[in-house]
Amino acid sequence: QAGKWGVEDQMNFLITGAAGFLGSALANRLAREGHQVRGLDDLSTGNPQALSPEVLFTRGDVNDRPKLWTLLQDVDCVYHLAARVAVPESILYPREYNATNVGGTVSLMEAMRDVGVRRVVFTSSGAVYGDQQEQPLSEDARPNPRSPYAVSKLAAEYYVRTIGDLWGIETVSLRIFNVYGPGQHLPPSHPPVIPNFLRQAMRDGTIVVHGDGSQTRDYVFLDDVVSAMVAAATAPDIGQRVINIGSGQETSVRELVRIILDITGSKAEIINNPRNDPGVSRMRADIRLAQEKLNYYPQVSLETGLRLTLERDPRFKGERPARSAQRG
Ligand code: NAD
Repeated sequence: QAGKWGVEDQMNFLITGAAGFLGSALANRLAREGHQVRGLDDLSTGNPQALSPEVLFTRGDVNDRPKLWTLLQDVDCVYHLAARVAVPESILYPREYNATNVGGTVSLMEAMRDVGVRRVVFTSSGAVYGDQQEQPLSEDARPNPRSPYAVSKLAAEYYVRTIGDLWGIETVSLRIFNVYGPGQHLPPSHPPVIPNFLRQAMRDGTIVVHGDGSQTRDYVFLDDVVSAMVAAATAPDIGQRVINIGSGQETSVRELVRIILDITGSKAEIINNPRNDPGVSRMRADIRLAQEKLNYYPQVSLETGLRLTLERDPRFKGERPARSAQRG
């Protein structure tokens, strides 16, 4: 089965963006399975405390090629996650998004070529699809990016595939949909929807829904995404491919709020803000290619994943007294 290697199959990995939400979960999982894991992160948003001690961590920029040359020695597979990831911020600072997300990817591919690394797994995004009539979104839909972030991911996909083709590097770009789970960043401005709503629910605060809440997203739990990424390191016949990683389900923001209120018992106030851009109207991943190529079958439903997030993320603990305690 994908991701289950014996000790004799121990591999050497480099993960860029290793101190981030997805990177740290992946690094810890690979290290736990007995692999050698090197992590690179400039700590612009990452937290090295999230990494287990077995992960060999280096602080540095993904554009620093001499550093990459050193870190890439004897590496079997690179996971390239380092990126700026906030869509609204990318609208304000497109040049920075281009420099890190596109420039950083080109630097990495060049360094991989120089050192002679065999495979790279790149974390692209479902955002490259933008608004599409046809759902679920299949990999051959024509991309329609709506933000500099989405453009940067699409451009990086092309660089990864093209440089890989030219130099015989196996590449796979995973178009990942809306990931959530313990450890997700919760920045003060433009926080991702799930940790933001969970925090407001746990405080009996205010949940602000952009638009009327009918827009849907494909929310996928962290552990399922990590399993797909692990499988992508060794799966045969995935060279130069683009593969969707989502849950395969779509949930409206309104429905998400209902589930969150239900599992937390929260008395949070719900406000609809019609002036805030709700973004694309529908997002649902077609995951048949991932099933075929990566043996990827997501295991965690949205409700279970939200419960696991509340249980495992200490930031949500103790924010709100248990329901029984409140009555006393
Ligand atoms: P994250 O911000 O937690 O991780 C990105 C990491 O990259 C951070 O730790 C940051 O410090 C680091 N970084 C930024 N610029 C760097 C640079 N110049 N050099 C080295 N490191 C740098 O975000 P995440 O949610 O873990 O996302 C990881 C990857 O997955 C990103 O490429 C993102 O585009 C992609 N992705 C995430 C989602 C999601 O829902 N979380 C969905 C689709 C794609």
